[in-house]
Amino acid sequence: MNLFELIQKQQSGIFPKDGISFDDAFALTGTENKDLYFLFALANSVREKYRGNKVNLCALTNAKSGNCTEDCKFCSQSAHHNSKVEEYPLINEDEIVNQARETINATKTNRFCIVISGKGVSEADLDVICNALKRIKKEFPAIALDASLGFVSPEGIIKLKQAGLSRYNHNVETAESHFGKVCTTHKHSDRTNTIKAFKNAGIEACCGGIFGLGETSRQRIEMAFEIKALDPHCIPLNFLNPIPGTALGNNKPLPPLELLKYVAIYRLIMPDKEIRVCGGRQTNLKNLQSMIFPAGADAIIIGNYLTTAGSTPKDDHEMIKSMGLKIENNPNASE
Ligand code: SF4
Repeated sequence: MNLFELIQKQQSGIFPKDGISFDDAFALTGTENKDLYFLFALANSVREKYRGNKVNLCALTNAKSGNCTEDCKFCSQSAHHNSKVEEYPLINEDEIVNQARETINATKTNRFCIVISGKGVSEADLDVICNALKRIKKEFPAIALDASLGFVSPEGIIKLKQAGLSRYNHNVETAESHFGKVCTTHKHSDRTNTIKAFKNAGIEACCGGIFGLGETSRQRIEMAFEIKALDPHCIPLNFLNPIPGTALGNNKPLPPLELLKYVAIYRLIMPDKEIRVCGGRQTNLKNLQSMIFPAGADAIIIGNYLTTAGSTPKDDHEMIKSMGLKIENNPNASE
């Protein structure tokens, strides 16, 4: 089916509930700029049908920065790179709780995610994080708590669940067929197995990737279907922000309309999923940022990213409201 046949299906109320096929998605990657707004209109209407008019926010803290043993070529926190990122070991429990309190109140988010650099999490660090999660949950019972800690042991997964973890983030980063060009110190399957282990433990999965790592358009669609097979609740989409000193520091950013095209295609592949635009939004999309919503996204990271600054919470709130959308409110945040 081509774009206009898909639009007809949506208008007739028979758009495929489970999303479009691989072949149809791949065909859409060739959509010319003159037809892109038809694609966005379709993605927007699918977003509205399955996700309503609300935008979900998630804010994060980088609780341990840099010095990672892995060689992910895009990452400023890899010890294999010379990216001059600030390095620090895990901040203590009080600091994590304080950062959570400040961030939740400043951003009015209803999700808060603790992120650490590294291949995985040590037992000692996991205990600190679990204690912090319990305290944050007690202080902000309505806030969903997420974490992104790399690979975690089965015992660690249980500890996180008991501490109140709602969702676990682990991205596939890129299609399996491209993964070896992006990272050589672990495998794509290590990542998908982690997501499966959290899902099996009854914890929601958050799994996405990055555009702009030198992948082909076919590999972007491969990644979408690899993610779809994992059935995560949330799909974070990142756009490479080439950081000087990283192996991909000289990569040219993809054109904003090209990135928005893939947001739209991902919405059509996974009509009912939370699609969250994350790192690289500001640097790549510039003044087209608000177009992520008509292109099909229904969630963003608010506040700062791991090693780069984001927009101010006020600007993001205004952007969402100016698009006629509502923010999924945080009942705990003071006005
Ligand atoms: S993406 Fe994660 S595992 Fe890869 S280098 Fe960065 S911190 Fe390490």
